[in-house]
Amino acid sequence: MPSADTAYRGRFAPSPTGPLHQGSLVAALASYLEARRAGGTWLVRMEDLDPPREQPGAADAILRSLEAHGLYWDEPVLWQSQRSAAYLAALNQLQAQGHLFACSCSRARTDSAGNCCGDCREQTPPPPVALRVPVAPQFAAQWQDRWQGPQHWPIGRALQDFVVRRKDQLFAYQLAVVVDDAEQRISHIVRGSDLLDSTPRQLWLQSLLHVPQPHYGHLPVLTNRQGQKLSKQNHAPALDDGRATHNLRSALDALGQPPPPPDCASVTELLAAACRHWDATRVPAGLTLAPR
Ligand code: GLU
Repeated sequence: MPSADTAYRGRFAPSPTGPLHQGSLVAALASYLEARRAGGTWLVRMEDLDPPREQPGAADAILRSLEAHGLYWDEPVLWQSQRSAAYLAALNQLQAQGHLFACSCSRARTDSAGNCCGDCREQTPPPPVALRVPVAPQFAAQWQDRWQGPQHWPIGRALQDFVVRRKDQLFAYQLAVVVDDAEQRISHIVRGSDLLDSTPRQLWLQSLLHVPQPHYGHLPVLTNRQGQKLSKQNHAPALDDGRATHNLRSALDALGQPPPPPDCASVTELLAAACRHWDATRVPAGLTLAPR
């Protein structure tokens, strides 16, 4: 048995803003296969922390879709909507260490990088306020990305601060994801390249909260024929759960994997074959994957 510190723990963390589409299946599948290949644990976390952006029924539809595709998770789903106490504890910790300030800036008052106007740091504004974390000017995030190679992001040069709790009192994604990845002892994060520029902020929060930095791999994301990332906003069609083996074959193809034998009739057989042959180095290089 590997020790808790070295065990591979991966996760898929969808936001229930709509049903899964082929692009999300590619990310879920790669994260699943990486975890299974490593003999690790694979978790699902429902990132339902932004009710105004959520679609009723989407969380259940996502879980049903994962099951229809044979992507079973190993521990109970963690629901971010039930994690407020943990996020508040993290905010308290940041506050106690002097890493938090209140900001009343409207979007129009922030600069192009989204920084606070600066005045709020001098004089605490009256509510409603957002809570922000200052970034040290010399901070540069560094990691070796599984698919995007060595990363060096000196974000402290342009980013002075960022929001961890919004003015509407919702917790920001950047805070929740760091708290939950630490709580779930996630060792490897596999997700789309659309989140690459969030990672430096997450590394900064990890350093402030004294939690470990996981390994990261950002996959190229599937685009439509116009070159836009598949998403609910640009009307990516929902996965048809009735065509699960077809969807998995096409996701494996997008990931550069050899086609599973034609006699794999069930999702279970197909995933077993995919796992045996999984080769992360065959994933096409780059940030995007054009439709074939
Ligand atoms: N919930 C995020 C999304 O659906 C993903 C978060 C993550 O993988 O870190 O875009």
